Amino acid sequence: MTIRPTSTETIADAARYLRQGGLVAFPTETVYGLGVDATNAMAVAALYAAKGRPVFNPLIIHVPRPDLAWVFGVPTPVARALAAAFWPGPLTLVLRKQPDCWLADLATAGLDTVAIRVPAHRTALQILEQAGCPIAAPSANRSGRVSPTTADHVAADFGDALEFIVDGGATPVGVESTIVDATGEKAVLLRAGAVTRAQIERVLGAAVVVAAETTHDETKPASPGRLASHYAPRAAVRLEAQAVQDGEALLAFGPPLTHTGAMQTLSLRGDLVEAAANLFAMLRALDTIGAQSIAVMPIPDIGLGEAINDRLRRAAAPRPTKR
Ligand code: AMP
Ligand code: MG
Repeated sequence: MTIRPTSTETIADAARYLRQGGLVAFPTETVYGLGVDATNAMAVAALYAAKGRPVFNPLIIHVPRPDLAWVFGVPTPVARALAAAFWPGPLTLVLRKQPDCWLADLATAGLDTVAIRVPAHRTALQILEQAGCPIAAPSANRSGRVSPTTADHVAADFGDALEFIVDGGATPVGVESTIVDATGEKAVLLRAGAVTRAQIERVLGAAVVVAAETTHDETKPASPGRLASHYAPRAAVRLEAQAVQDGEALLAFGPPLTHTGAMQTLSLRGDLVEAAANLFAMLRALDTIGAQSIAVMPIPDIGLGEAINDRLRRAAAPRPTKR
């Protein structure tokens, strides 16, 4: 692990490392973020593995300018007004994904929405600008630990598990960004943070709805009120399959079971990072070909396997409403 002081060379190296799929911790005005290229599914999977998150929480995507945010998310009048008032700054907007949004499905945990912001930190903006790709960056702490506001906090949490830390001193704000759902006509506060509700209401000239749960716990699935919008395959899902039954499609892990019908292989070599990177796209692919039910081979419940199994268990759970 190397902690590198901010310099022109450090920023250029960090941007290059990110483009190559690496993980880089860098300062923002809120807390230190652990960044990866949000279009690179393997890099995003490695990020979840490093943080040790037991579930796939959707990540906040960082871009250096508002017009780049609209490339990935559909701007609403509320979103444009809030972006004009608070970007760059500690406000995250949840938007509908653009139809051609090419972010890795894993970065948004398979949702049809994307959380995005423009940070107000010179070093962060320079890294984002030079990386030239959207950067998914949750707080640079291991799951369950407090958010880091100095490079030393980051180093203490990750040790040698993290290659590259950009040291920009203590972060000025020190609390997380406020998260607002801006997909509709009214703004909905999903997480309280550095920008206050009163500030938002002043800009919009309208009351802000507060979502049922605005506390933040990264060991729990994000925004529980919105779980219904989580991507679940249309097909029925059967876990721990030891054999494939008639009419089932197969989602394999390791060498596939004997099967002649539709099949996707999460990872032939049984690699959990690769499996996580493929999970959402492969569930979608099996849905697209019209599979009625999916048999899923056993996946070890260790490391990223925990988050993969959490996602699959929820996909396999009885559906409250017919879809
Ligand atoms: P952080 O660890 O600070 O990056 O927090 C990321 C949080 O952003 C997640 O845990 C969610 O609460 C929230 N979030 C990200 N994407 C979405 C989304 N599409 N819809 C709702 N909330 C989101
Ligand atoms: Mg966090």
